[in-house]
Amino acid sequence: MLNQFKLLRKNIYTFQEKINFVTYLSSLILLILHLLFLGFYIYELIIPMITIDIIGIIIYIYYAIKGIKNSNFYSFVCYFCISIHTIMALLCIGWNSGYNLWLFALVCIFFLPSFGKLEEKTSNRPLIFGIFYVIVYFAFGFLIPSGLVKPFYEIQNMTSVVLFGINSAIVFVSIIAFTYFYTTRQKVKEDNLKRLADYDVLTNLKNRNAINHIIDQKIKEGNNKFSVAILDIDWFKHVNDTYGHNAGDLLLKEIARKMKELEGFGITCARWRGEEFLTLGPNDMPVKDFVDILNSYRRTIRESQFKYDRSIIKVTVSIGVAEYNKNTSIKNVIEKADSNLYKAKESGRNKTVF
Ligand code: GH3
Ligand code: MG
Ligand code: MG
Repeated sequence: MLNQFKLLRKNIYTFQEKINFVTYLSSLILLILHLLFLGFYIYELIIPMITIDIIGIIIYIYYAIKGIKNSNFYSFVCYFCISIHTIMALLCIGWNSGYNLWLFALVCIFFLPSFGKLEEKTSNRPLIFGIFYVIVYFAFGFLIPSGLVKPFYEIQNMTSVVLFGINSAIVFVSIIAFTYFYTTRQKVKEDNLKRLADYDVLTNLKNRNAINHIIDQKIKEGNNKFSVAILDIDWFKHVNDTYGHNAGDLLLKEIARKMKELEGFGITCARWRGEEFLTLGPNDMPVKDFVDILNSYRRTIRESQFKYDRSIIKVTVSIGVAEYNKNTSIKNVIEKADSNLYKAKESGRNKTVF
């Protein structure tokens, strides 16, 4: 338990560690709740509930000391304990103490992926358990208040009122906490997917799809003058052939890492295809300034030494630039940048042609 708190303080937890921490915290809360309920049950001398609570307390103390190794199994144990506690409390002290409300929280909790394994496409567990608790709710809701099933114990009215208040609060907090937890978890997944859809995995630059979208947006917003460049690594095939594809990949990553620094000038960079990159100038940047910045980047690459194993690899890049204005289509501008790149290659490489 202490380790979990240390982890939180250091702020170094991964998503899994976060789940573990929440699991620990929930076990601590459940332990406190069991102690609280135990007080009520001893006061009213309800033997079955005292037994259930003591078992619960032993389980949660065990987990607090030993730690949680299998969080799925732990979730199942918690869920099982809460379910037994709820059903037995309804049978022992009836409908008025708010234990019926726990059934709402149980349905909600079970739809959490870590409990119900919603990721497993074939799993009907959340649905089956959900239906089970709805049936329990309506069956008990009819049988107990109608008097067909008499509660095993009669408790004082005041105890019932206090329990109702406590149970309502617990159920509200549980539903809010679990819904929040579920939404946060889905948001993390959504962000990861979004990142995968918009970014190139190797270089971590925007991919072709994302840059096309940015260009479309730029034009839609009425930006009718901006520069475009295509950068291509010279003799890159030779690098792959000489040092291997891993060296080639490393080089692509390093070149992209340095290219990212251009974003400080408002230039957007993307991996266009293979060893080619596309950059976009900001709206109000004159093409001359854009070319100057790219030339300085080109010189940086020429002067850089890329280390791979014991080899030192040196490369250059060629750049073709074109300018978009409202009289041309973006397709033509990219073609123009491509043909300028071709000219840069033809005239000896390591050049920028506008
Ligand atoms: P040029 O100066 O005319 O551009 O010559 P080049 O060798 O760079 O051009 P070419 O088009 O002949 O070869 C490009 C090479 O880039 C071929 C391909 O295997 C390599 N390449 C493309 N994508 C990747 C990648 O993701 N990783 C690695 N290692 N190589 C790649
Ligand atoms: Mg190429
Ligand atoms: Mg090339």
